[in-house]
Amino acid sequence: MSHNESNPFAAITQLERINQCIQCGTCSGSCPLADLMDHAPRELFALLREGAYEEVLHSNTPWFCVSCYACMVRCPREIPVTDLMYAFKEVIARQGTAPKNHKMPDMYQAFSRSIKDTGKVTESLVMGRYGMKHPLDALKSIPLAVKMQMRGRLELKAQKVADPKSIARLFALTEIPQDKP
Ligand code: SF4
Ligand code: SF4
Repeated sequence: MSHNESNPFAAITQLERINQCIQCGTCSGSCPLADLMDHAPRELFALLREGAYEEVLHSNTPWFCVSCYACMVRCPREIPVTDLMYAFKEVIARQGTAPKNHKMPDMYQAFSRSIKDTGKVTESLVMGRYGMKHPLDALKSIPLAVKMQMRGRLELKAQKVADPKSIARLFALTEIPQDKP
């Protein structure tokens, strides 16, 4: 694969590793969510190698990845499939091409926002932000939230690390530079 301006994934550090993929399909066969993905991992890598960037940008595959690492530990070429899925999510989210009918991008954004703002994951903050976009889900989770609260398992007040700004700086350092497609 050649890195060029038109490849929105070009800045991903480990992207070149997919050139070592032998298309054996072990990753797809090991993936518990492959049936839900529009392109199983093997196919996603094939699309990228062909330069079908738009298809990858709009794919639901990374959003169904639950980071179980089954693909990664079994890949005969030791390709970091799971790590690449994380990187794809970041690029896709920043390009604004995540599938509109998929809830995971909003959950990820609520989760990372909590960490960026406070350095910690506060469940009530995460669910509050997510619930603004998916109010029905938020309503459905109220009974569980009440039970968790009664057992002292739900933090309502945001906890903060001593220097939350240092976390925001860490986020900035790890961001993948983006070109517009
Ligand atoms: S298991 Fe590894 S080599 Fe085989 S298709 Fe998947 S990424 Fe490619
Ligand atoms: S890490 Fe993601 S892509 Fe790999 S097997 Fe698990 S769910 Fe599938």
